[in-house]
Amino acid sequence: MNNTLGSTVLGYPRIGPNRELKRAVERYWAGQIDDDELRRVAAGLRRDTWRELAAAGLGSVPGNTFSYYDQVLDTALMVGAVPARFSGPGPLDTLFAMARGRDGVPALEMTKFFDTNYHYLVPEIGPETRFELAGRKPVEELVEALELGIRTRPVLLGPVTFLLLAKGHRPLERLDALLEVYAELLVELHAAGAEWVQLDEPAFVADRTPAELDALARAYQRLAGVPGRPRLLVAGYYGDLGPALPVLADSPVDAIGLDLVAGSADLSRVAALGDKTVLAGVVDGRNVWRTDLEAALAKAAVLLGSAGRVEIGSSCPLLHVPYDVAVETGLSGVVRDRLAFARQKLREIEILDRALHHGRDTVAEEFADAARRRHPDRTGERDDRVRARLDALGTTHFRRGPAGRRARLQRDNLKLGPIPTTTIGSFPQTARIRADRAAHRAGRLDGGEYERRMRAEIERVVRLQERIGLDVLVHGEPERNDMVQYFAEHLDGFAATEHGWVQSYGTRCVRPPVLYADVSRPEPITVRWSGFAQSLTARPVKAMLTGPVTILAWSFVRDDQPLGQTARQVALALRDEVRDLEAAGLRIVQVDEPALRELLPPRTAGRADYLAWAIDAFRLATGGAADTTQVHTHLCYSEFGDVVDAIDALGADVTTVEAARSNMEVVAALGAGIGRGLGPGVYDVHSPEVPTVDDIAGLLTAAAREVAPERLWANPDCGLKTRAEPEVVAALRNLVAAAATVRGG
Ligand code: GLN
Ligand code: ZN
Repeated sequence: MNNTLGSTVLGYPRIGPNRELKRAVERYWAGQIDDDELRRVAAGLRRDTWRELAAAGLGSVPGNTFSYYDQVLDTALMVGAVPARFSGPGPLDTLFAMARGRDGVPALEMTKFFDTNYHYLVPEIGPETRFELAGRKPVEELVEALELGIRTRPVLLGPVTFLLLAKGHRPLERLDALLEVYAELLVELHAAGAEWVQLDEPAFVADRTPAELDALARAYQRLAGVPGRPRLLVAGYYGDLGPALPVLADSPVDAIGLDLVAGSADLSRVAALGDKTVLAGVVDGRNVWRTDLEAALAKAAVLLGSAGRVEIGSSCPLLHVPYDVAVETGLSGVVRDRLAFARQKLREIEILDRALHHGRDTVAEEFADAARRRHPDRTGERDDRVRARLDALGTTHFRRGPAGRRARLQRDNLKLGPIPTTTIGSFPQTARIRADRAAHRAGRLDGGEYERRMRAEIERVVRLQERIGLDVLVHGEPERNDMVQYFAEHLDGFAATEHGWVQSYGTRCVRPPVLYADVSRPEPITVRWSGFAQSLTARPVKAMLTGPVTILAWSFVRDDQPLGQTARQVALALRDEVRDLEAAGLRIVQVDEPALRELLPPRTAGRADYLAWAIDAFRLATGGAADTTQVHTHLCYSEFGDVVDAIDALGADVTTVEAARSNMEVVAALGAGIGRGLGPGVYDVHSPEVPTVDDIAGLLTAAAREVAPERLWANPDCGLKTRAEPEVVAALRNLVAAAATVRGG
């Protein structure tokens, strides 16, 4: 039996190079294919993935990286954590019911996976949850691969992270029971032929309590003590393991995976690794740039003296990057050269593995070629005008007049009464609008006709809002496919891929833009749409921009300069856009920052730096607005505990947040923390129910106890574009009526 781990990746994309899985699952949902056909597609994707990984020369091929929907959901099913409301016919239907709900049975909650843009389903652990080995997906996939002649290393979500991701009454207290299930699984995996098993514990790159670190220690004492077990690789990623590293080093596991890209701080903590194998995650699993092989090798080499054996790995699972650069024929040669998607990263790992174990000389040519293709000379991509403008900024560029004075001026300018009504920006997008956009993009609809149709839609939406009686109108965003992609397409410095899809959740995939050079705005972006909307009506129209942090969060961003510097370039472009909007007659501008919280570093120690540049970028983008212009921001979530001060520091005149689902709990915290306008969402756009006037009036009355009516706004949560128009209209009419009642009362 081979007891070395070998080089490897922690995980691999699973949606299929052409999103085959998405298509098959959606056809299954629509009843167009049966479960046999769906399983056949899935098996084909697994086979192709294993063959590709085995052919890439990895020392160890990860298994169980496939999922129909989400690996956290798979784990819940495997350990029997299925809430009673889902008990149903077949396993596949139970899985999809948990993911999407079924006949009035609500789905599991979905939330972001750590600081990534991947979303997982939150397991529910209650006192009634009885852990048992209820599913054997990892064993079945191991056997399936063995039949193809490939011995995989099953990848499991670690038991402690699983419980930390779950909700319920103190899930972590159920650890011991859960460990018995994992122990049983390890025995079965070993019996089925697994030599190594990987357990992922990314929860430990965030700050953890002593009790949680104890749980980690207990878990791996128990699992490593299982007689007849495979070898265990425990991986932490998306940051440094910090105090969890000595805990794992003291445990009897065989190997530890470190993220030496996001968590290079761990390099200074490796003295105690003893004879353990370390998987040095030096190839970035989250970003798309070609690896600096020289630097990566040097990092891995640092570990040589402190561990039993060092192997080359990816920093995290490759789930967050697209499959293959080779198919991106539309990119310029230089940009394409610089990129490494999943397939290219396999090759980088193989080269680094040879360099580490057989000497750099054996791969000198590969190193030289890779260095050349990184095209380190970027002078051709510098935008000296942008850089000069940024160098010349002073503190006044980040500051507007005093908030009290702004509020007075805006009252005169906008003439809004107490509790004004508005929406968050988008209106329902019809199939017709999507088809027009696609036709225009494909060149089948000429510019003039496209413009005419979009204007017609904007006019329709403006009139509709007037009839509903909203105070502050929006143009409805019909021209936008996606709030980040739209801006990326209109700014210099970004490139778009054709096939660069990554999974966001379930069958939803996104194609993040690639920010590769200095950013600038060749011409106004939104002015012709928002300006047109304002020209139609006497009521104020709120223009919609996506903020700098969100644009970076949902793109693949150059890593040759600090993020804060890149954020400032984006902010400068938005600042110019704000000015142009004002000149076109817009008196309100909203800058959406739904991702502000998502990028928050997992450890508190890193947060101050991040928040400093994030706030700085927002203030640069909005700081040029006249004091008479009302600046709004929108944040897409409702748990603000640790970032209230940061939100206050953005300095927006009005902040709208998601609140309906959390029953307005957010209002107390933000009402006290932000001295200016606040719009807690009073219509949960994700719920199938249309709220009544009484429902909304109740929420607004509760909010008015915390926030004075002069500061309070009435608006729905975001995402109207995902709903059908009749329900949106009904909900907004009720919202307008409710605001009138509360004002009067
Ligand atoms: N303006 C956007 C909308 O209403 C905001 C979306 C978001 O917050 N994610 O759709
Ligand atoms: Zn939102």
